[in-house]
Amino acid sequence: MNATAIRNNTQFLKAEAKRLGFDFVGVSKAEYLEEDAPLLEQWLKNDYQGKMQYLENHFDKRLDPRKLVEGAKSVVSLVYNYYPEEDLAKDGEYKFAKYAYGKDYHFVVKDRLKELMQSLNDEIGEIDGRIFVDSAPVMERSWAKKSGLGWIGKHSLLINKQQGSFFFLAELIIDLELEPDLPYAKDFCGTCTKCIDACPTEAIVAPQVVDGSKCISYLTIELKDQLPNSFKGQMDQWVFGCDVCQDVCPWNRFSKPHREPEFAPHPALGKMQNREWEELTQEVFSEIFRKSAVKRTKLAGLKRNIIFAKE
Ligand code: SF4
Ligand code: SF4
Repeated sequence: MNATAIRNNTQFLKAEAKRLGFDFVGVSKAEYLEEDAPLLEQWLKNDYQGKMQYLENHFDKRLDPRKLVEGAKSVVSLVYNYYPEEDLAKDGEYKFAKYAYGKDYHFVVKDRLKELMQSLNDEIGEIDGRIFVDSAPVMERSWAKKSGLGWIGKHSLLINKQQGSFFFLAELIIDLELEPDLPYAKDFCGTCTKCIDACPTEAIVAPQVVDGSKCISYLTIELKDQLPNSFKGQMDQWVFGCDVCQDVCPWNRFSKPHREPEFAPHPALGKMQNREWEELTQEVFSEIFRKSAVKRTKLAGLKRNIIFAKE
């Protein structure tokens, strides 16, 4: 393919992604993530994955997109904003992470990605590839940084200068050659340590290193066993996920509310009192979280978190 066709295809992809609601789009060449290999290895050696054993699988696949998609030429990183109009987390009340307010993002973002793939196929011709949303085999933050979308903050999440960090990352790994963007070379955390200082469970053990097994997101969502007693009194009322390290980050002053109607919270979310949460029935749980990612914990999991946060 000649350079003009590559440029035109890249421009088409980026314009189409924006039309479908993605805020930022960047492209990388599909190649081995050399710099990440030793970091990932060390992170796993330290057991920071807790019981998320799936993170230990497919080590090579996670570092080389060509092992996930045969003939892959490009990794496209996309940002989908979920910052809500209103922060529903109030002191003294049980709190849910902002990303879980509305309809499960896996479905919403995946639908947009499928549309994007369809547009590429219609416009450019048959393209082979896979779509990923919050998917374990892809080192999504590393790709986003490599694609010029931002830097990895000390809380280990991607920060975009214009939008902060309250967004989902998604990827297309495709066999289409595209013009790569320049990697994001700067880090604008500077001397700030607000996220490290504010983390209720001291899970950020070093800049850009989160001990997943201590993180409230892991404890309230991923961990299926009893919550370890050592975290009693440290949950800061979070019962599904945790936003503390992002809430305190100065770059989130620049977050703008999303425009995705599917992310609108269920009306009960901002209204339920602690006692009502404590007495939550299956019927009410099913109604409030019918389309939500919170469904993952099931009623028993959410109740476990509520009881633990209360005591
Ligand atoms: S999500 Fe919460 S618990 Fe996890 S690292 Fe951030 S502040 Fe700490
Ligand atoms: S709170 Fe400060 S150190 Fe943490 S990610 Fe934001 S800017 Fe970086």
